[in-house]
Amino acid sequence: MAPSRASDDVYPPTLSTLDAEHLLCTIKDWSVAHGLTVRPPLSVVAAEADPHGILATTAPVTLFPSPFPKACFQQAKSIQKAYNSLYAAIAQDEIFLRDIVQEIIEVDDFIAELWQVHLKVKEEGYSQNLSLGLFRSDYMVHEATSDSAPTIKQVEFNTIASSFGGLSAQTSKLHHFLAKNNYPLLDKPLPTGDLELPENSSAKGLATGILVAFEAYKNLIEPLHDSCVVFLVQDPERNIFDQRHLEYEIQEQKPGVPVFRLPFAEILSRTSIAETPKRQLLYQLPSNPKKVFEVAVVYFRAGYGPGDYPDADAWKARLQIERSHAIKCPTILTQLAGAKKVQQVLATPTSDSTPSILNRFVKDAPKDIEELEKTFTNIFPLDDSPSGLEARKMAVDPEACKGYVLKPQREGGGNNTYRSAIPPFLKSLPETHWKSYILMEIITPPPVHNIILRNGALEQGGVICELGVYGTCVWNQETKEVLHNEEAGYLLRTKGDKSEEGGVAAGFGSMDSVRLV
Ligand code: ADP
Ligand code: MG
Ligand code: MG
Repeated sequence: MAPSRASDDVYPPTLSTLDAEHLLCTIKDWSVAHGLTVRPPLSVVAAEADPHGILATTAPVTLFPSPFPKACFQQAKSIQKAYNSLYAAIAQDEIFLRDIVQEIIEVDDFIAELWQVHLKVKEEGYSQNLSLGLFRSDYMVHEATSDSAPTIKQVEFNTIASSFGGLSAQTSKLHHFLAKNNYPLLDKPLPTGDLELPENSSAKGLATGILVAFEAYKNLIEPLHDSCVVFLVQDPERNIFDQRHLEYEIQEQKPGVPVFRLPFAEILSRTSIAETPKRQLLYQLPSNPKKVFEVAVVYFRAGYGPGDYPDADAWKARLQIERSHAIKCPTILTQLAGAKKVQQVLATPTSDSTPSILNRFVKDAPKDIEELEKTFTNIFPLDDSPSGLEARKMAVDPEACKGYVLKPQREGGGNNTYRSAIPPFLKSLPETHWKSYILMEIITPPPVHNIILRNGALEQGGVICELGVYGTCVWNQETKEVLHNEEAGYLLRTKGDKSEEGGVAAGFGSMDSVRLV
């Protein structure tokens, strides 16, 4: 990385052994004391060692905030509201989503099942028109040439279970703390005030989004029972503290709002639908089954992938939520709007004479369209269209494939195929299945150095940073009115530059925060 302070300095500074030990010790304790933590992996801590499930361990984190171009950070933050509106509009456009889903439905059972749930509820009539989006748009820095100004390119847009808003706010606080108290004391000190570290409101912002939906629900209907928020979760969940931070922030902002964690597999045993035209979702407290709440908001931190749907009951459970009066974050249509295939359709270059597909969703805001398009990188379908046929050739070409990543319609990390692994992977599939994948240009950000603390050990070297910007949006599917639209803080995830995937939960990345340069 180019030196970013005085020209004789390097960033981050080279650490003496004693400095490294001291920082490690400080971070270890600060992380546990402030909930920058995850549950230990089940395979490492055997059930006998932790029979009551009380242990927590530090989340992987960088020792220093990674340098990130200020203009890129501002570009990503300033475009978030336009992205929120765009994806709210896509979620309202059932015809557009239907046409996309139709193309992949025969080879992707998961997408097909989701669509079936939507169709069933549509037939009966949706009872709730309000929809909540807690989105995260992910980017990497892209430098066209070494002397051109860097810009951001979008990796993906998440519309379901956008995670790490809780831990990310804590990571920013950790780096602020170190900048004040520890970096100035290093053998090669980083003086206080030398680092520009922006505030990060991710936990607050996401909690506010949930509360806006919670209040909107109560403004629409006189609840039958006390109303509550339900977090639909996986069980076990290692990343539980990330979710707890949002819960605590909700309760900080509006003391007394009941928030319950409901494992996806327990939906049918713990919830029911009121036999009223509105179909309110009722939640029974496990500790006191006589106590019933009316669910105003269902926040999904599960249900984004096939693993959460092992049997027909799981789909019955998803249907129960979807047909209920609760405000969903997300609805099935909003979840589908986040499909990689949608991102590809938005980003596939059109000929000069064809207007951008964005005109269908973004009205009277040509500047927004221009700014959104600047963040797109080339993404191609692998279908029978002319660009699809062209991309199929590239994908199996041993040289051409090296600049690409192949993605299925999945979430949660660990699903992609990279570079020269693409041709053998595609050849192992029937060609009829190829169209459920997209082929995306690899974004190669400028090299950055940092030190990652993972499982108590330090990993030093070249890293790749991925910036996520959160957005919250509440809209009405019928009237298309947008009741709330905010940018809601950021996430920086950093991985070693030898690793293709960067998901912290998937085990490859680490939490980070930005140092603006
Ligand atoms: P998921 O929904 O599973 O998170 P992503 O599209 O975010 O899928 O891909 C997972 C990871 O793969 C990203 O976090 C990033 O590290 C890497 N990746 C994905 N697309 C690209 C790309 N175009 N260029 C470089 N890396 C990418
Ligand atoms: Mg994703
Ligand atoms: Mg991702």
